[in-house]
Amino acid sequence: MSFRLFDAPLREPSQFVGFAGNIIDRQSENRADDSVDKALADPATRLLLMHGGRLYLKLGDGSGLDPWFGASESEPFEPFLEQGVLLGFSEQGPVLAVPGGVDPERLPETIKAIDYRSVYMQGLIDEAAAGAMAQGAALLAWHASHRFCSKCGTQSQMRAGGYKRHCPNCGTEHFPRTDPVAIMLTATREKCLLGRGRHFAQGMYSALAGFIEPGETIEAAVRRETLEEAGIRLGRVVYHASQPWPFPYSLMIGCFGEPLNDDIQADLNELEDCRWFARDEVRSMLTREHPGNLVTPPKGAIAHHLIRAWVDSE
Ligand SMILES: [Zn+2]
Repeated sequence: MSFRLFDAPLREPSQFVGFAGNIIDRQSENRADDSVDKALADPATRLLLMHGGRLYLKLGDGSGLDPWFGASESEPFEPFLEQGVLLGFSEQGPVLAVPGGVDPERLPETIKAIDYRSVYMQGLIDEAAAGAMAQGAALLAWHASHRFCSKCGTQSQMRAGGYKRHCPNCGTEHFPRTDPVAIMLTATREKCLLGRGRHFAQGMYSALAGFIEPGETIEAAVRRETLEEAGIRLGRVVYHASQPWPFPYSLMIGCFGEPLNDDIQADLNELEDCRWFARDEVRSMLTREHPGNLVTPPKGAIAHHLIRAWVDSE
């Protein structure tokens, strides 16, 4: 069996994907039940305010957008502080994500509420803030959809700065979940397999993807999804990189797969189209120079990095 650790690059591919710039020190070993209250009493604390899948952004003096609010500065936006989660600590102090109470339509002109996808696709905030947004968005979404104990149905309570829910009736503790999704580029040296989902932006083709199911290895999920969606059986499967994906709380696990057959049988319930692309054609899609205006996903997406790594491979 090969041992790949000492051949691996010092900066692994996951460091280059969108949302990977999170530099918050989570201090997960010190999460006390009063850590949000303590943080809110600290004048150095900074908040991300979120509402309905959107991040509140202050219009700066120049062209920049600022996602950070002080605790008192956030008051006009009626934050639900008791639902806030402590993301951890930056050099400046504690960092919280808090649901904002004011509807985006009622915000003053100096504040914009922009959906997470646009914030990261358009690079509206720096990578560290985008990483913090992904962490906060995932946690707030998990709490919003796990308010009741899944064992006995009693309303549960947030604990440990938002990293746990406790059931006061049966005592069960519930922890925030991350849903693993396999995303895979099936490729030979000459060609790769890309598909087009029904809701994709015009002209976009991407790597196939699907949720990893209970009882499956990552590799088994990659093989199953590729067979189900494209009718392609895979031989070797290797892991490449991962990406936090806060829609609502997934982890994208990017892999490469080696095809064993050529004839595609696309699942047209899932995909609008699925076909082989030659390396030169894919290169032109990456650089936005494709004659038919076909494109690959933007840089923030892990699919872009899988496709780029294959195009640039020897
Ligand atoms: Zn319970």
